[in-house]
Amino acid sequence: MPASPIVIAHRGASGYLPEHTQEAKALAYAMGADFLEQDVVASRDDQLIVSHDIHLDRVSDVASRFPDRHRDDGRFYVRDFELQELQTLNIHERLNDDGSAAAFPGRFPLHKGRFRIVTLAQEIEMIQGMNRATGRNVGIYPEIKAPAWHRAEGVDVSALLLAMLDDYGYRSAADPVFVQCFDAAEVRRLKNELDCQLPLIQLIGENSWAESDTDYDYLRSEAGLREIAATAIGIGPWIGQLYTLANIDGQPVSTGLVKLAQQLGLAVHPYTFRADAVPPGFASYAALVQWFVLELKVDGLFTDFADKTLEALQLRPLARS
Ligand code: CA
Repeated sequence: MPASPIVIAHRGASGYLPEHTQEAKALAYAMGADFLEQDVVASRDDQLIVSHDIHLDRVSDVASRFPDRHRDDGRFYVRDFELQELQTLNIHERLNDDGSAAAFPGRFPLHKGRFRIVTLAQEIEMIQGMNRATGRNVGIYPEIKAPAWHRAEGVDVSALLLAMLDDYGYRSAADPVFVQCFDAAEVRRLKNELDCQLPLIQLIGENSWAESDTDYDYLRSEAGLREIAATAIGIGPWIGQLYTLANIDGQPVSTGLVKLAQQLGLAVHPYTFRADAVPPGFASYAALVQWFVLELKVDGLFTDFADKTLEALQLRPLARS
């Protein structure tokens, strides 16, 4: 195998336990992941919370615990609750977009067990504590969620995040950390206004997802990638942007995006590798991982299944450091 790509535990070992819980993070750590991902949002009292959504209703019992606290759109927002209230919620396996069933029915059963919301500080302390106890150097990979929306709500999540990372010793490009964001204006702001010295990753979505005002079609062009390279050290594209299936035999073919980005000096960390959602064109999860590593030569992989990813890379858990 070529130089090993980094394995990033997407929301922890989220293929096995409710995403972003301490349990999911500890399991991903034990599986041998190189980095653990945190999605970062802010509470009413400006505490940084690890949650994929700005909403609480797809992963918690908030609607039954605080039935009157939704906004006009019927949704419950992390931003509308104090940390103390958030810590009383039961976190469960993610529901699908309309809230009618589990997003991944084969995973941890819905509404079983007892899981709590985690602050970013708690999670960093757990990872740093395990690093000390094991002698490993597992990194963190925080994503700033909806920065423009948060600022309109009166809180600058990026500034709070950088201050906290500094407090915990993440200060230079040599530290085990990447900071990621979908919003290209925010990535530039991190570098140019907030003087962020940490490695930045520009996430790339599809314009149809309405994730931010960023034009992702442009970002994937050579001009767009050059612009990214002025501030970020890499990109986090969706895996579907990196290949197409050939008309003749249905085999995957590179779109050229990985090569173009790497020629401009950008690392490529695509998302999301899921053993229970292997896309058409790949015979197995191992075949999927190996094609991305051997053919596309990606530099990292976001995965819900760190164990199966390391297995596909023929690396034993905990053998890496
Ligand atoms: Ca994320």
